[in-house]
Amino acid sequence: MGLILNPEVKLRMDGGRSILFSVNSVDGAEETVFTFLYPQQAMMLSLFDGERALPEVIKAAACLFNLDEEAASREVEALLDFMVSKNQTIRSLIIDASTIDLSKARVYDPYDFIVPQEYINMTDVRCRIPCSLIILPTMRCFTNCIYCYADRAGIQRQEEFSLGLYKRLLQEMKECEIETVDFSGGDFFCRDDAFDIIECTLSEDMYPTIPTKYPLSKIDVDRLARMGLSTIQISIDALSPDIIDKMVGKPSYGGKILKTLEYLGEAGIRVRTNTVLTPYNIGDAINLARHLAQKPHIFKCNFTPYGRSLYRHDNSLFCSSADLDNFERALKHVQDEFPHKTIYLSGTNIDPYGGDKDKRSSAFWERAMCTANRRGAVVLPNGKVTICEELYFHEYFIIGDLTKQTLMEVWNSPRALELAHPTPSAVLDGSCKDCPDFRRCHEERGRCVRDTLKAYGYNKPHWPDARCPRAPVGNRMV
Ligand code: SF4
Ligand code: SF4
Repeated sequence: MGLILNPEVKLRMDGGRSILFSVNSVDGAEETVFTFLYPQQAMMLSLFDGERALPEVIKAAACLFNLDEEAASREVEALLDFMVSKNQTIRSLIIDASTIDLSKARVYDPYDFIVPQEYINMTDVRCRIPCSLIILPTMRCFTNCIYCYADRAGIQRQEEFSLGLYKRLLQEMKECEIETVDFSGGDFFCRDDAFDIIECTLSEDMYPTIPTKYPLSKIDVDRLARMGLSTIQISIDALSPDIIDKMVGKPSYGGKILKTLEYLGEAGIRVRTNTVLTPYNIGDAINLARHLAQKPHIFKCNFTPYGRSLYRHDNSLFCSSADLDNFERALKHVQDEFPHKTIYLSGTNIDPYGGDKDKRSSAFWERAMCTANRRGAVVLPNGKVTICEELYFHEYFIIGDLTKQTLMEVWNSPRALELAHPTPSAVLDGSCKDCPDFRRCHEERGRCVRDTLKAYGYNKPHWPDARCPRAPVGNRMV
């Protein structure tokens, strides 16, 4: 057997270029891959078809591009050294075909990636076709968490999208070559048709990533296992049932969700967990980390400090930096004890207004790329589509409505394109108005509009990224 591209990543045409991206950024490899490729890079990558070893790939490249073997070898090596994420090159994605489940192998035809010279376009950071979608099937919840960041009031008395619309959307996602359905919410299991949604997702060979706090019974869990659900995310905030109850605002709940975790293990469903850290639970969180790490079916545990919420914020829920430092130190011991588990503390945000001007400026221009409305979008329970989850029903960011439009019509709607390529003249006030870096800022890394709203208020969507050195000090963010 020869070499092949790891099937956890996928090669797809995207207008005048190709993209290489992780098909499952939640349960796939630790570092998500996303990169644009020139047509010739995609064609060369297709030569790793599971049959050819490296010397044969070089020979095939020589033949395909009319090169001598030495030149072809240099080109192939340059491709293998190409960075596809912060720490990974293409070389790390090329594996021996005998090590993978061959039914998952992806074999490409190099000729499918040809683009005439005049149509090659590597400049636009926005995908021509979305490559991910977050779906919020409901904003209803079983719990009433003290740290909730969701706009649950925003959809009161509005209808939730139907199972029929969801099935249509699945087909449209497949046409876009999306293979993972990332759910968020709301609690998925508050919908009466939650099991139908999972069933039709799995029957289309799509992978659902479901976060829940619902205390699923043994019968529910066994039903999920029979359907073929392999993983689920349980949000759990402490090991002590009393502390859990306080965090989620629901008496007698803690014991039940701990039981659900057990049922999932018995049924063979693997579990990711998520824990929000506040002053109320940070003292118990390390007991929880150790308890979770000991469970064979729990493979990933994420701890996130409370962050400012747009819809129901409370400054007293921020953890002190001393508490976070202590927790991080204690967590390091658990990580060392269970090296085969993915246990991490994420989202320890830096004060966006802090630091001297130069440091702030260099950090700002090196910020992570905003993916909203560039790689994917977010489907709201009423069928409308926004660009980033926490923006929810904010009208300014609504790019379409799936009850009236197809996914591609929404993706290419005038509002979607206007938000993707804003013009300075549309900015009424604030630091971005007349900013000399406006185009570079918006066409390259992009503004984190979610944090703009958090920092400056719901009515300031056009204000600067809170990290920008030209931005004023706004609301406390950490
Ligand atoms: S956030 Fe606004 S003010 Fe800051 S660089 Fe970008 S466009 Fe300019
Ligand atoms: S708006 Fe902010 S949170 Fe949303 S995708 Fe962009 S950078 Fe991330």
